[in-house]
Amino acid sequence: MSTPETRTFEAEVAQVLHLVTHSLYSHKEIFLRELVSNASDACDKLRFEGLANPDLMSGDGELHIDVSFDEKARTITIADNGIGMSRQEVIENIGTIASSGTRRFLAAMASEQKADARLIGQFGVGFYSGFVVADRVTVLTRRAGDPADAGVKWESDGRGEYTLEAVERPQRGTEVILHLKEDEGEFLSAWKLRELIHRYSDHVAFPIRMPKQADGGEGEEAATGEWETINSASALWTRSKSEITDEEYQGFYKSLGHDFADPLAWSHNRVEGNQSFTTLLYLPSQPPFDVMMGGRDERKGLKLYIKRVFVMDAAEELLPHYLRFVRGVVDADDLPLNVSRELLQQNRQLERIKASCTKRVLDLIESLAKNEPEKFATFIKAFGNTLKEGIGEDTANRERIAKLLRFASTKGDGAAKSVSLDDYIGRMADGQDTIWYVTADSHAAAAGSPQLEAFKARDIEVLLLSDRIDEWMLGYLREYDGRKLQSVAKGELPLDEEAKKQQEEAAKQAEPLVARLKELLGERVSDVRVSARLTDSPSCLVLSEFDMAPHFARLMREAGQ
Ligand code: ADP
Ligand code: MG
Repeated sequence: MSTPETRTFEAEVAQVLHLVTHSLYSHKEIFLRELVSNASDACDKLRFEGLANPDLMSGDGELHIDVSFDEKARTITIADNGIGMSRQEVIENIGTIASSGTRRFLAAMASEQKADARLIGQFGVGFYSGFVVADRVTVLTRRAGDPADAGVKWESDGRGEYTLEAVERPQRGTEVILHLKEDEGEFLSAWKLRELIHRYSDHVAFPIRMPKQADGGEGEEAATGEWETINSASALWTRSKSEITDEEYQGFYKSLGHDFADPLAWSHNRVEGNQSFTTLLYLPSQPPFDVMMGGRDERKGLKLYIKRVFVMDAAEELLPHYLRFVRGVVDADDLPLNVSRELLQQNRQLERIKASCTKRVLDLIESLAKNEPEKFATFIKAFGNTLKEGIGEDTANRERIAKLLRFASTKGDGAAKSVSLDDYIGRMADGQDTIWYVTADSHAAAAGSPQLEAFKARDIEVLLLSDRIDEWMLGYLREYDGRKLQSVAKGELPLDEEAKKQQEEAAKQAEPLVARLKELLGERVSDVRVSARLTDSPSCLVLSEFDMAPHFARLMREAGQ
């Protein structure tokens, strides 16, 4: 129609393209999952907009995703009749990188030895995975509601430039055509494509169709012109628990979380009552990248549906921040479908759903701790530090969260974080009413602290804390189960009567020495005392109850405080 206009990708897009195509090679088949996932998102968006504006769906109400290939042209086409894109949207969505997540992704990839395939997709770079197998990608699209001559053709070889052209397009929606590279012929097979759809996209909630084969076999020439649905296309969470197999739960997680690994555990619940909703929540077995990066851009974890219609990614609205590693679906029956993110944040019903999700997740972690120690250890390794944020963030559940934390300890197993506060309390000596801990920059420094000598001599257990977040967390965790938590670097040691006498004795004898030391040290210390703190080292620095711990003081200095 018109002459194509050539434009250059935003610099970051070129970078992402380069990284994606060079690092995804061992998982190149995920291009299909990513493009099908985009088609499914586009159908979700249209169904949602169609509620307010039914004309958008007119004439073509059955949303679906069609996958086909052409052996002679060496192309694979993924087509949907979803929302489509206007020219401006094409430029914004696939010519630039809008999300801050992608910028973090770039930084993360640059620091990794080799990029991890499971990161792709989590960062909104899914579309570009097409270039792993294709040396040219064509997109034909028209936004729902726009006239037929508002179609757009986008094309690129993925090397820094793309062309844009206006085209006539009678049907709405998007078609992505991959022109396969020389050696990617394996994907030009009905069998192969079906297998990939089953493996990665079975739980996409719209029918994924392929041309029907007359003999049900491999012969491409035998296509009948009809389409047949390949995936199960059901909203898994709406089925009853007893009818869903573990494999189905796992498969759903993988298509939902863009993860290759199985989830660690899940919890599927239906709440009936004056407010009804369904939750299906998963614990991943490894941290999604965003969590590791401490990102605040984690809306993607949890999908909010209202009566089976996808409304938005709403992890922030449905779970507290410290549970941001959770993936899953919440389907509410009674929320208004036209709800906006702003309204959502003030919605009282949603508060209740959020509390329920939080409870379910804590229940799930508790049951792992009780019944599946190995999985629980994996969980603690991956998310133990994230969970600690809850001590400060979720006052209502503080005690429950504290119960779930695990620490290294002088009576534990080396550096392994395996001791719970309850374990500690169970081992306390008669009359001990304090939970002692030491904080340091590393486990070795904590374990080697001279402050521990007196505790060792008296066989008193001390928790060894060396994670950055510990000091912050301890600011909120002053007490557990009626016992005070206290740093060995602060305050008074627990002494028995005998030792008390000895110390008083020693203090008396040492009075001249103490006086002399005070004179020598002057302003540099606030006091010099004889102490039972040490058994081997001759002296150490002690903080009074309200001083900052040395490790924390150093952190504050680093932060410029
Ligand atoms: P993400 O899906 O995480 O947003 P992608 O790289 O997969 O990131 O896609 C980028 C954007 O391109 C999408 O957010 C969407 O706006 C647009 N897009 C991609 N595929 C389609 C499609 N089939 N229909 C409509 N829009 C699409
Ligand atoms: Mg995508």
